[in-house]
Amino acid sequence: MPEQPEPYAIYALKYATRIAPASECFLGAEAHEPPLRMDYFVWVVTNARHTLVLDTGFSEEVARRRGRDYERNPAEGLRALGIDPAKVDRVVLSHMHYDHVGNIARFPNARFQVQEIEMAFYTGPAAHYPRFSKSMEVEDVVGLVRANYDGRLELSSGDLELLPGITMHLVGGHTAGSQIMRVATARGTVVLAADAAHYYEEVEQLRPFPTLHDLAKMYRAYETVNRLADSPGHVIPGHDPLVMERYPAVAKDTPWIVKLA
Ligand SMILES: [Zn+2]
Repeated sequence: MPEQPEPYAIYALKYATRIAPASECFLGAEAHEPPLRMDYFVWVVTNARHTLVLDTGFSEEVARRRGRDYERNPAEGLRALGIDPAKVDRVVLSHMHYDHVGNIARFPNARFQVQEIEMAFYTGPAAHYPRFSKSMEVEDVVGLVRANYDGRLELSSGDLELLPGITMHLVGGHTAGSQIMRVATARGTVVLAADAAHYYEEVEQLRPFPTLHDLAKMYRAYETVNRLADSPGHVIPGHDPLVMERYPAVAKDTPWIVKLA
């Protein structure tokens, strides 16, 4: 008998923030557009049988160097949900930008899943061009190379079922191998878009983000995000501060963790 999917709960943990010029949030933003808040999250998807972590954030040292307002280490933040990062066995990486793949040493017993073309791109001949390398921390890439040699890197080629009720979808666009997560929850099918949609505006108005690998694929990724989610209310963008307003905090003393489903 195949395992029956039991609905998953999903949590977003906010660990950092910054105020960004509009031109760093939307391709072709006009000079008069006001700056926007950009929040940084990791996500937890869990039911009675399984727990997995989507993305690992960046470290305090990286925050300081890049001028981000750091609130907590996201791996340590997991403890507020009763999760010991050293006991997490599965971590999924939406893509390899610095704000999604830091802190991997804090997950010493995890296997990391990432798309093969993402790893190939950032260890390949175009990785050093500044438009690409500016979004990277080379030590994170080295850490993933080490994880591969340790047999702890799961390199996927395209869409896959991670667990019953959880699938990954390769969309590209923002980076060569950006992937999104589709999750069966008690309130329907939710899509964790990560950076396939930083802001609601991207998927609602098809308004592209300026950091990109392939603009045509980015547009198509917006369509895929919308198609795979049950409704616009089932799309979770990767950096939009509205997420913190639209979803309830799990507890009074942890207002930085909201329950998405
Ligand atoms: Zn990104």
